[in-house]
Amino acid sequence: MNYKEALSHNIFKTISKSAKALDIDAYVIGGFVRDFLLNRGDAKDIDIVAIGDGIALAKEVAKQLPNTPKVQVFKTYGTAMLRYDDIEIEFVGARKESYTEDSRNPAVENGSLEDDQNRRDFTINALALNLNENNFGDLLDPFNGIDDLENKIIKTPLPPDITYSDDPLRMMRAVRFATQLDFSIEQKSLQAITENNARIKIITNERIVVELHKILESKKPSVGFLLLEQTGLLQYILPELTALKGIDEVEGQKHKDNFYHTLEVVDNIALHTDDLWLRWAALLHDIGKAPTKKFSKKVGWTFHGHEFEGSKMVYHLFKRLKMPLNDKMKFVQKMVFMSSRPIVLAQDLVTDSAVRRLVFDAGEYVDDLMTLCEADITTKNPRKFNKYHNNFKIVRDKIIEVEARDHVRNFQPPISGEEIMKTFNLKPSREIGLIKEQIKEAILEGEIPNEYDAAFKLMIEKGKLLGLEVKS
Ligand code: ATP
Repeated sequence: MNYKEALSHNIFKTISKSAKALDIDAYVIGGFVRDFLLNRGDAKDIDIVAIGDGIALAKEVAKQLPNTPKVQVFKTYGTAMLRYDDIEIEFVGARKESYTEDSRNPAVENGSLEDDQNRRDFTINALALNLNENNFGDLLDPFNGIDDLENKIIKTPLPPDITYSDDPLRMMRAVRFATQLDFSIEQKSLQAITENNARIKIITNERIVVELHKILESKKPSVGFLLLEQTGLLQYILPELTALKGIDEVEGQKHKDNFYHTLEVVDNIALHTDDLWLRWAALLHDIGKAPTKKFSKKVGWTFHGHEFEGSKMVYHLFKRLKMPLNDKMKFVQKMVFMSSRPIVLAQDLVTDSAVRRLVFDAGEYVDDLMTLCEADITTKNPRKFNKYHNNFKIVRDKIIEVEARDHVRNFQPPISGEEIMKTFNLKPSREIGLIKEQIKEAILEGEIPNEYDAAFKLMIEKGKLLGLEVKS
């Protein structure tokens, strides 16, 4: 089969000519070919394999291109990269790899195209197109990757036990591709992944997180998390989630399975936001439920304080996975911590003051919090489903109304501590904090508007109650 149309970008002609000048063969391989055949849009990464010196080919290509782009050489890996027309092009000499038990970094020697295709993780990632003048665009598909693309299945070129054991990162990649592409993983592979799952321990957290992010960014992230769970990988990566599995029953009272509930919430939120961190919040919003679960005869199952517990666990989880402990982490913590607030609110009559407090506490993230809470509605009871959604609609409308009137989203106290000190001739003291707090409370309760004059009047009243005298 010939796929010249995949190679319409002028870069491929340039690579072809450069390879000819060096008297070597060159192929485009991997993700570019796969994504072209899947119609996944214009690729921004191109992998070129040379039967010979990949670095020399990169340098020759750069020479032929306008403005001679810089070639970045990675000596240790024997690869070179250049950027052209917003595309990253990576060059490597075809290689044969052999692995040892304790590392995913193989010993490498020069090899043929076939050797190079053998070392690829999946048949759909081993597809190559010929760039040589005479066979330009010819497909080289030794493992029937085309059929697997058609049948939407992830298979390995070598026996799966070897592929996954050699480089356990491929277990994560299999799950990630299955999720991103909506493919299934062949049975033999699933079995090999399950047998090798403990080998995920030799993979760095940073690489695991890259794959987790790609799973979370997919259209239906639950596909990936279910596969991770089914193969036993999840217990090594996110034990906080596997701890949510299961339904306990005492005296005929059951709670829901919080693992499957969580996955539903993640899929729901994925329909409404592409924000990775909000999706993380959905994934972790209930993790505090495992350690706080209790049964009492009077009220049945409870998870008291799970939001606070969960937000603490977020920190430890991020730290363990070596994710940055920055504002994104704090955002996820805040979402987890506040995740029950709007639900409690929406179960009752929605009052202005409750909404004002919600906006005050959530600040600039109140819309994200609402998106999370709407996604959290997974009840199969249509009456409850509609009631909660309607109430959330009321909450959303009230947020806009209250915000337009009271501006509590980024609350700045209308009366400063300095002004209180000046008015009552005070030195820094407890009373100042007390008065400020009372003014804030009165605003949130709706007793006074969020305005200077009303706050000033209240300050005088509260000061007098504390026995303070206004400075004349
Ligand atoms: P994406 O860009 O979505 O990550 P990709 O397939 O281009 O997809 P890369 O990580 O850029 O992924 O890898 C490029 C190619 O290198 C793959 O298509 C595959 O052939 C090969 N490859 C990458 N990682 C591995 C691995 N761990 N084991 C074997 N082959 C791999």
